[in-house]
Amino acid sequence: MTGCMALVFCVAALTAWIVSADAKELSITTIKEDPYTMSRGSELEGYCIDLITELSRKLVFKYKLHLVKDSKYGTMDSSGNWNGMIGEVIRGEADLAVAPLTLTAVREQFVDMSTPFMQTGIGFVLRKDTEESSFSLLSPFSTDMWVGVLIAFLLTGLCIFLVGRISPTEWAGPDTEEHSFTLLHSFWYITGALTLQGAGPHPKALSGRLVSAIWWLFAVLLLASYFGNFNSMLHSNNKHISIESFEDLANQDVIDYGTVESGSTMLFFKHSTNPLYQRIYQHMERKKSFVSSTQEGVRRAQEGNFAFIGEAVSLDLAVARYCDLCRSQEVIGMRAYSIAAPMGSPLVKNLTVAILQLSESGMLTHLRHKWWASSCAGADRAHNSEALQAHDLRGLFLLLGLGLGVGLLMALLELLSRARNQAKDGKKSCCSVLTSELNQRFGSKEESAEQDASDKSKA
Ligand code: GLU
Repeated sequence: MTGCMALVFCVAALTAWIVSADAKELSITTIKEDPYTMSRGSELEGYCIDLITELSRKLVFKYKLHLVKDSKYGTMDSSGNWNGMIGEVIRGEADLAVAPLTLTAVREQFVDMSTPFMQTGIGFVLRKDTEESSFSLLSPFSTDMWVGVLIAFLLTGLCIFLVGRISPTEWAGPDTEEHSFTLLHSFWYITGALTLQGAGPHPKALSGRLVSAIWWLFAVLLLASYFGNFNSMLHSNNKHISIESFEDLANQDVIDYGTVESGSTMLFFKHSTNPLYQRIYQHMERKKSFVSSTQEGVRRAQEGNFAFIGEAVSLDLAVARYCDLCRSQEVIGMRAYSIAAPMGSPLVKNLTVAILQLSESGMLTHLRHKWWASSCAGADRAHNSEALQAHDLRGLFLLLGLGLGVGLLMALLELLSRARNQAKDGKKSCCSVLTSELNQRFGSKEESAEQDASDKSKA
């Protein structure tokens, strides 16, 4: 019975509204803010304008749109008077306020607000710090990558040196000092290759050539990766940003910061009990760093040395439009935008139903994509321009390691084959020839001489 009466009441209210709306256009107040309400010639366009059109189509009403006189969203002063769009709705100067108007507890006590049509939170934007980016020659590679390159360099130098010693083709007369690949020359040789400057003499043995060729390949691919990343970092806008959270913002005094005056973001900080947010409000109050609109906040952020604290959806648009801005990762104080109507207005229930229908049909998502399309071409590129990590080029390191291993093995095989030939000719065991060869190459001079003498006496 009660349900029946409520339905009858609702239908009656809706009919009365439609009838009165037929007679009188609804007066809707809004505020100029990109991309919700923007001027195009004498017309207005934007997300909120499309939303009003959809709602008027669904609920069949006519409307007259005007911009709020004081260009404010709405806060209450000490004597209990409201300004902005909320003030206009309370005073009956507007039937509805359709704008990025945040649903807050205090507003809900003075006006009726529909179900939200958009969710958001509070963040800040600031200019990417180009001055701070003393672009360093080391930045294209991460520290572990540089360590990897250094280890690869040392191992390859050592490997070339060992191959030069072991391979009989490289050092045919180990009792003489006439061989090219001393430790110093080995490192000089691979340094030359790393800078694409041939520093001869080159290895003669197959093993030495294999190690050199692998190192050349490694050097070319390493240089290509280095310069590729160097170029992308040089042109990237993704510069180092040291202020990433509200805590960072509060703990520095180089960059000023502020919110829109008479907006819910300012009130959030004003009434917060969190000591950090209180500190942020006190700073803004002391410095009088509030801005009159989101546009002004974004403009000041672009000029530099200013962080504009605002609602994340609006900031996302600014970041999408102006590639020199970046938004904080941290988003606090979840909130939502709703349509405001005078207390007890029969419109609110119908607006709520219509907004839910628009949301369920995907229309709100469509509008969001339509008005938030990104035009910042640098956004994707910035993503790619981080320092290369060692694991990004692990294939290259693996190839080098494999090449060095195979090169060393080949040098040993070369020596083994020479030892076998000598053993055959001199009728000695292959093992003793190999030991004496290795002693000559790596042992001290006295040891080698002793070995020679004993070999001769045996012979
Ligand atoms: N959406 C806010 C409001 O309804 C205005 C913007 C802001 O305070 O950041 O008051």
